[in-house]
Amino acid sequence: IFQRYNALNADEFDDSEYDIVVVHDPQPAAMIDHFPDSHARWIWRCHIDLSTPNESVLDVLLPSLARYDAAIFHMPQYVPRSGNLPEAFIWPPAIDPLAPKNIALSAEDAAYIVDQFGIDVQRPLLTQVSRFDPWKDPLGVIDAFRIVRETHPGLQLGLVGSMAHDDPEGWDFYNQTVEHAAGDPDIFILSNLNNIGSVEVNAFQVYSAAVLQKSIREGFGLTVTEGLWKVRPTVAGRVGGIPSQIQDGETGWLVDSVEECAAACLEILAEPGEARSRGIRGKEYVRQHFLTPRLLRDWLALFNRLDGNDTGETQLVTVSAEAA
Ligand code: UDP
Repeated sequence: IFQRYNALNADEFDDSEYDIVVVHDPQPAAMIDHFPDSHARWIWRCHIDLSTPNESVLDVLLPSLARYDAAIFHMPQYVPRSGNLPEAFIWPPAIDPLAPKNIALSAEDAAYIVDQFGIDVQRPLLTQVSRFDPWKDPLGVIDAFRIVRETHPGLQLGLVGSMAHDDPEGWDFYNQTVEHAAGDPDIFILSNLNNIGSVEVNAFQVYSAAVLQKSIREGFGLTVTEGLWKVRPTVAGRVGGIPSQIQDGETGWLVDSVEECAAACLEILAEPGEARSRGIRGKEYVRQHFLTPRLLRDWLALFNRLDGNDTGETQLVTVSAEAA
């Protein structure tokens, strides 16, 4: 299936029109095999953690990956150990502050939007925005919510998770999440099927007393970036790219368990002023590191580097440079 779909996509693609081709993630990585005489530079952008891959799957990908001119990973430790990869560059992803998901939304507008989904805007809300995936741990989020609610009986929980088209296991886990919520009227399980789009995700993040991302494994965790950008007190699992975004105690809360997650939420609800200070510092950190202008600069520097041009003052991080 992998080979067949890569061939079908390659048929639809005319590489002669382009100087640079960027291919994202493993699914279309083998398209490059169909362009042996390409004049374009090919770059593979990997969004996932390949530090401990299923070796037999990686072995299928490696011959294709070896053909690329460069590969990009979020973090140095995500690069698989293999002599057969192109030069690996390291930079994190970014969010677009002008996109509907991240544009400034007033508290009133956010409340107006979440109200349409049944949220009682007189009462506080915790939200996790995530695909329905065991590694995002929505069941753990429900458990943490139940602990916090013992102290704050009016608390509500939003689990906002689109059903990704490339995630066939999503439905199964969605059903498990619904079952775990056990008909609790204060737990709102919403998705794109309820007409949740980018602006609605934005509104849930802006309206929430705390944004959660209680992952137990994570690539980068863009929902954390989004929460911080909205000056939200953000509570997230100490995994993957999340610790590179949150300095625990400084710009948010890093947690390793349901109990720690609940304790962080209790702290936020008890001391909103202190929580807001962390949110403000978190937003500043995102401004400096994870917005699209930085991403654009990295891309342009890499294009220049591949063309043998000066990359100006931009230092591109490669894995070997990082190790040194
Ligand atoms: N997202 C969304 N609607 C949802 C669930 C997720 O728009 O119902 C978005 C979310 O805002 C973020 C992205 O999907 O921009 C998820 O990225 P992340 O790195 O957090 O996790 P991934 O799904 O890539 O593992």
